[in-house]
Amino acid sequence: MINSNIEFETRNVFVALVGKPNVGKSSILNKLVGEKVAIVTSKPQTTRTKITGILTQDTLQYVFMDTPGIHTARTKLGERMVKASAGSIADVDVGVMIFEPYGELTPSEQSLIADIKKKKLAAIAVINKTDTLRKEADLENRKVLLTELGVFKEVLTTSALQGKGVQELLEKLSEYGEFGPHYFPEDSYTDMPEKALVAEIIREKMLTNLYEEIPHGVAITVDSFKERPNGKKIDMEINIFCEKKSHKGMIIGKDGAMLKKIATEARIDCEDFLGVRVNLKCWVKIKSDWRDNEFLLNNFGFKK
Ligand code: GDP
Ligand code: MG
Repeated sequence: MINSNIEFETRNVFVALVGKPNVGKSSILNKLVGEKVAIVTSKPQTTRTKITGILTQDTLQYVFMDTPGIHTARTKLGERMVKASAGSIADVDVGVMIFEPYGELTPSEQSLIADIKKKKLAAIAVINKTDTLRKEADLENRKVLLTELGVFKEVLTTSALQGKGVQELLEKLSEYGEFGPHYFPEDSYTDMPEKALVAEIIREKMLTNLYEEIPHGVAITVDSFKERPNGKKIDMEINIFCEKKSHKGMIIGKDGAMLKKIATEARIDCEDFLGVRVNLKCWVKIKSDWRDNEFLLNNFGFKK
């Protein structure tokens, strides 16, 4: 075993973050990587694509996958999101399953735990949001419950909000590193294409500005992303596909005020992240059944 490793001084560890919506996957990822790579909101399931955060510390490179929350599949889109979540653990060195400090385990959590057990995957449990604990004994009880499941190598605790326990998690994950060359440049923090990032930012702004049902029925495509020759500005064209005429009206708003607000807030975040000025044009279109339409799903990058 040692012989096969001897030619590399560098190691990689591939980590999948899984758990039900809203447990804090994106928040933990952001704390681990130290950059805003995943969109955090108080509403579940904003992360649709698999976003990868990368952290390089000396000879060890961590590659994180932030997966869509596990939840019951209702439409074809839902089915694919669930597949992305359970499938991602099998492809990595270690899975991190994140839990709330309180509450019954949901059926989707139980089925993921059963899957981890069946496939004998290396997984760590993390109890997040420890800042919300009512008393210390509650945490101990939760630890016992998760330990007794017999599937997790460790049960750790974090508060992503306060940044607590995150270093300990990182140290634990380092034990799962495999020798080999690094896959990404040292200074990369995400391999997510910029276009996908822009779509995530637009989605975030829609979530914070509109009624919940509208953004969840929306698909966003970035149809043009052009850097000007002087490198000082990027021109983008974005299409927002919604399901109903009434939704289109609400997204655009009175005299276009809502769309302007969404686009302006998104532009500011895009400029911040990309480090250049951005010229952003948004159109709103109706595509009534995009959630169940195979062609559109493939077009928007949800793989089978
Ligand atoms: P995800 O759906 O699992 O990716 O969850 P997010 O990271 O988007 O977080 C969902 C919500 O929980 C957001 O409002 C976060 O601010 C909040 N949250 C995440 N971690 C913590 C934590 O440690 N403590 C508290 N109190 N809230 C948290
Ligand atoms: Mg998330």
